Amino acid sequence: MFSLRGHHLLCLLGYRGMGYSKEYVQNMTSLHEVLRTVPDTDILIVNKPDDLCAKFPNNQPYHCEDDNIRERDQSILNKLGIQEGQVLAWSTLQNLIMKNFSASDVPALCSTCSWKAYGVCEEGVQEIIDGKKLRRIL
Ligand code: SF4
Repeated sequence: MFSLRGHHLLCLLGYRGMGYSKEYVQNMTSLHEVLRTVPDTDILIVNKPDDLCAKFPNNQPYHCEDDNIRERDQSILNKLGIQEGQVLAWSTLQNLIMKNFSASDVPALCSTCSWKAYGVCEEGVQEIIDGKKLRRIL
């Protein structure tokens, strides 16, 4: 089981192998690969630093405890109709995203994110809505 915060549910859809550091990318790629190949993997929903934040590099400004990030998490959980503390399979979360999100939600929800400009997260949400699976990274 992995712990994930709300906004990382979306980040994983648009993940293309980019990240804050080599270690961060290795961790995210490996977590992404488990979800891609074993979609029934359980996810504990948290509203605090999670299993991706755990590898955020020490030499960069730490934002994982910032209020605006927690607010983004909560907005995404509200939209999905789920709460911190719930355990759901990744496949169930993908279905909830498919039913409750559109790609055009990303710019407003993620207005302060430095990765937003790449457009990959909107693409990732759209792919899930279209019934596709996570992209292969490895
Ligand atoms: S724009 Fe940023 S916070 Fe939003 S899903 Fe993409 S990487 Fe995650």
